[in-house]
Amino acid sequence: MSPTSIKQIDQIYINGEFVTPHGSEMMDLINPVTEQVVSQVRLADEIDTQRAIAAAKAAYATFSKTSKAQRIQYLQQLHDAVLARANELETVMITEYGGPVWMAHGTVACASDSFLQTIKILQEYDFVRQIGRANVVMEPLGVVGLITPWNANYGFICNKMATALAAGSTVVIKPSELSAAQTQLLTECLHDAGLPPGVFNIVTGRGDVVGAEITRHPDIAKISFTGSTLVGKTIARGAVETMKRVTLELGGKSPNVILDDADLATAIPLALTIGTLNNGQACLAGTRLLVPESRFEEVKQQLKKAVLQVKVGDPAQSDTQIGPLVTAKQYARVQGYIRQGIAEGAELLCGGEGRPEGLSSGYFVRPTVFVNVMPDMSIAREEIFGPVISVLTYKTVEDAIAMANDTVYGLHAYVSSADREKARAVASQIVAGRVFINGMYDEPGVPFGGFKQSGIGREFGTYGLEAYLEPKATIENE
Ligand code: NAD
Repeated sequence: MSPTSIKQIDQIYINGEFVTPHGSEMMDLINPVTEQVVSQVRLADEIDTQRAIAAAKAAYATFSKTSKAQRIQYLQQLHDAVLARANELETVMITEYGGPVWMAHGTVACASDSFLQTIKILQEYDFVRQIGRANVVMEPLGVVGLITPWNANYGFICNKMATALAAGSTVVIKPSELSAAQTQLLTECLHDAGLPPGVFNIVTGRGDVVGAEITRHPDIAKISFTGSTLVGKTIARGAVETMKRVTLELGGKSPNVILDDADLATAIPLALTIGTLNNGQACLAGTRLLVPESRFEEVKQQLKKAVLQVKVGDPAQSDTQIGPLVTAKQYARVQGYIRQGIAEGAELLCGGEGRPEGLSSGYFVRPTVFVNVMPDMSIAREEIFGPVISVLTYKTVEDAIAMANDTVYGLHAYVSSADREKARAVASQIVAGRVFINGMYDEPGVPFGGFKQSGIGREFGTYGLEAYLEPKATIENE
């Protein structure tokens, strides 16, 4: 690509305006299919972050006093503005991130829909309660910092922002620096919604610069973070200095328990989809497949069959299920795990190192299934964040439950069985924020978040809204 066709992304959004960052560091963004530099982003710094926080603080004085009806109106405007450019948003996500068409479509729909979902919650939510002689008001917290990852940029920004605004907070958003082109387009949409200046500010920069400033700044009352457990811990440690509230949506190594009566012809293709969602880059992917020893041979046959059906390749083609990984670093990390799995003695059932046949460039990984995985192997314990599934066998249901819970994570879990009651009994014993039975369903308003090191707090629905509110009681004498 010639230097002139490299897109320059050199604006951030502060106080209702697109401005050139004070920060001057430039970063190349590489198309994961062509491995060519497609854009260069000028990264914001601490000064930009402080300006964004000041703008949000100034706007908070008025915005926190807005009525429910006014906030509903703003959320509707945001929804309409995002929806108006849905096709462009999808195209940029495919090019920058490598999300396949179906995934990009779902992410954009989810992003615009999050404003409508939040409107519904707001309509039903009562901010004032009477408890005895006390009047309890659920008040906004102040300025909120939203820090998001690259694996579903639009969805994370829109959902977090919708909830924070619904609560009456103003926000400073720090998206992943790897999603700069998606963020730029999304910011244009959000700007078109016509909200008052300063209500939302978007500062693209490095985590250890912009993210760290948000974490330490005394005028930030809360941080809602989605990303790795490692960075989540850093943020939590820093946030406690000024007693910021935190919502942390972190990593996972979710178990998918196939019970001995499950219909494998359905459960196994589903397990492959759940294990390789979003090119394998999903916190909620069911990457530990726990299968009964008695049906191991059948499971292997079904897995081989299912993997053959999966098309890996150009994310812009509508029949592609798995696109490339986001960066060369992510590609190298996943290849490293595949090598490590082999070195630790697991057996490759499908896939393996290198690119899928027919693809000589791009960050494409072969959908990989390991069998004979032991619970102490790193591929059974660590989040790989690529299309790699580890199959472990169990003897009894009790073993399966113990293995499912043998992890530091607790985000999602999946159970397949022909007997709903049996599945429910297993689900009730798995320590995870969400357990899906016989599938994976979209259920808006249901809390999302993890037990253990998958995070702190919940998003979505009333649970999500209340994470941005603080009860204040006024008590009077009789
Ligand atoms: P990451 O933790 O590296 O980065 C996430 C965000 O934090 C980015 O914006 C990054 O710039 C910022 N950041 C980095 N260092 C920081 C610091 N010191 N202070 C403040 N901010 C900092 O994660 P990623 O690689 O972008 O995303 C992948 C990870 O996110 C995976 O572990 C995945 O499981 C997790 N994730 C979790 C969920 C969930 O809802 N539970 C959803 C998606 C992704």
